[in-house]
This record gives sequence, structure tokens and C-alpha cells, in this order.
Amino acid sequence: MAVHKVVLIPGDGIGPEVTSLTVKLFEAADVPIEWVTVELGEPAIEKYGDPFPEDALKTIKNYPVVFKGPLTTPVGGGYRSLNVRLRMELDTYAVVRPAKSLPVDWLYVDVPRYKNVDLVIVREATEGLYSGVEHFVGRDRCAAETINIITRKGSERIIRFAFEYARKNKRRLVTAVHKANIMKTTGGLFLEVFYEIAKEYPDIEANDRIVDNMAMQLVLKPHEYDVIVTSNLMGDILSDLASGLIGGLGVAPSSNIGDKYAIFEPVHGSAPKYAGQWKVNPTAQMLTGTFMLRYLGMDEKADLIEQAIFKTLNERKKLTYDMARTLRNAGIADIEPVSNKEFTEEVIRNLKELK
Ligand code: NAD
Repeated sequence: MAVHKVVLIPGDGIGPEVTSLTVKLFEAADVPIEWVTVELGEPAIEKYGDPFPEDALKTIKNYPVVFKGPLTTPVGGGYRSLNVRLRMELDTYAVVRPAKSLPVDWLYVDVPRYKNVDLVIVREATEGLYSGVEHFVGRDRCAAETINIITRKGSERIIRFAFEYARKNKRRLVTAVHKANIMKTTGGLFLEVFYEIAKEYPDIEANDRIVDNMAMQLVLKPHEYDVIVTSNLMGDILSDLASGLIGGLGVAPSSNIGDKYAIFEPVHGSAPKYAGQWKVNPTAQMLTGTFMLRYLGMDEKADLIEQAIFKTLNERKKLTYDMARTLRNAGIADIEPVSNKEFTEEVIRNLKELK
């Protein structure tokens, strides 16, 4: 099997833990990847005094695929999100976030309707309210503006991506999510482009929902939705909501796809309060990894790793704190949570049995 060179960005906060455990699992599965490690965020500040050094970007751009852990973004000030900047630099304009229930029945005992959820959120990643065009207005910071940029070109490519994704993956419906009742120009343009492009795909059903209604619908009847296409901020919020349907941020994978590059990272952030404790669930990072393996054409390796993860979760012997809590809240069992290192060892033990 050919060896793939992939950029590894460990990230910060819990990132280095969950990425290193995933690399360990991949090694146990003999995945033919050679990692090119690039540091961004806090480790880069410590070494180079810059969270996103120019040399790091040059190295990243030499390879088509990036596997990354989360990176912290200072809140209410400080440097611009490194995640947003990386997506923009590599023009990975489509954030593809599948929300698919795991084959782990006990996870859905509390809310049985979240069993068999299978939807995909396609979020635009280069414009919208994440444009970075923002400023204070007037004296003494008496007002502030963030510009919501929606272009016809940006809308066309993300909407076409969603319909192509639907066709390729045999999905039946694409739903545009917007707030065009209030933001009549930006939302209106997105919606107008959506129905223009929908005409090119007569084999796929198209409808739209206002975002607030969509949030409620996802909680009540997620099975009615299939592929959702939306703008940057709305997609960010809805995909965390969708992660909650399938078991939480600890199990939700994600990817950022462009024409030249792809970045694979979990939905969750760097959860700084848990950094260094080796307690958070590495499953989201691991499933993000199998998502990447499928992208690279290594379906068999991805299947094996996923089976090992699902076996470990189904056995319910060694679970991280978030899963142990779900088990307890559902009244199924009260088990002592283990560290994510111990969880990973158990996944590797199961993987060796399945090999
Ligand atoms: P977060 O996703 O880091 O954490 C929110 C909560 O979710 C945590 O407190 C924890 O309870 C739970 N959680 C997250 N990951 C988990 C895991 N693997 N296992 C178990 N539970 C988990 O969100 P936040 O606290 O809002 O953000 C923290 C930082 O991460 C911020 O700086 C934010 O900007 C950044 N962030 C980065 C990315 C990214 O790198 N792509 C994505 C989202 C947030």
C-alpha cells in the first residue's frame, strides 16, 4: 500500500492528547501514513512567538491533506481564529459534518429517537459573519459592526457542493438553512442561488428552513432531514446541536474540503479546562481519522478501526467520563470512568482481536 504523507497539527488544549492517541491507534492498525508535524497555536507561540508562523503555512501547503486537533481562539479579543484562517488559506470552503448515530444502542436509551439519525451538515467556511471584517464604531467603543459577506460565487460553490455530495452519496434531500426573513439581502441571495442550482438536480428534492425553526426540528424530528447546506455561523451552531443528537462532542467527526486541500478535525474545540488531564473522549478525533482514511481510499483500515471503537463502546467496560456519565444518566450502569489512554489501549486490544 502506498504511504501517504499527511500534515499533522496536534493543536492545543486537549488537541495533543486526542491526536497522539489517534496516531497510536493508526500505528496499531498499520495505517501507511507518514506524518509531517506542524505546530500552530500555543506551542508555536512558545517556540516562535507567533501562533501561525509563515513557515508553517508553507509546509502545510506542500501536502494535500491535513489531520488536525482543535486550536484555541481567544474570546472577545486577541488573535484571529487560526482554524478560520487555515480554512481560508487552503480555501477548504465546505465543512462537511456528518451526524450519524453510532451502532451503540445504549447511547440512545435516554432519547430513542436519536437512534438512526443520519444527516450531514455542509457549512460554508470562507465568508458570512466569519469574514473577519469587523470594527468598533464611534468613540469609546460605543458600537461595533461585523460584516456578513455573502457572495453569489461563494453561495454557488457551496450549494453545488451540497447537491453533488447528495448525488454521490445517494441522498434524497438538500435543505437550505437561512435567516432570509430578517437578513433579506444576504439570506435572500443565498436562498435565490439555492433554488437556481436546485433546478440542475431534478433527482434530488430541495427545500428550505429558517434557522430557528431548523434548530427545533432537528431536536424533534432529525430523521426528516438529510443534507443541510448553510452559512458559516449557522452551520457552526447547528453542527454542535447535531453532535448532541448522536452522543455529544466526544464522538462527532468533521472535515473541511476544498478543490486542492482537505483538513480533517473533530467538531469539538480545545476544551482548555480539561487539557493535560487525559480524560476527554478521543473518539471524535479517531472517527475524524477514519473519515480521512476513506477520503484517502483506505476504506478497509477505516472499517477495522471503527469496528474496534464500536466494540469498545458496546462492551461498556472502559469508557471515558462523558460516556460513563451517559451510561449512568440512562440508569444502565454506574462504572468508574477510565483515562483516554486506557480507553485507547482497550480499542487497540479489540483491534488486534479483530485483525
Ligand atoms: P469545546 O468543544 O472545546 O468544549 C465544550 C465542552 O464540550 C467541553 O467543556 C466538554 O464538556 C465537551 N467536550 C469537548 N470535547 C470533548 C471530548 N473530546 N470529550 C468529551 N467532552 C468534550 O468548546 P468551547 O469550550 O466552546 O471552546 C474552547 C476553545 O476551543 C475555544 O477557544 C474555541 O474557539 C475553540 N474551538 C476550536 C475549534 C477547532 O479547533 N476547530 C472548534 C470549536 C471551538
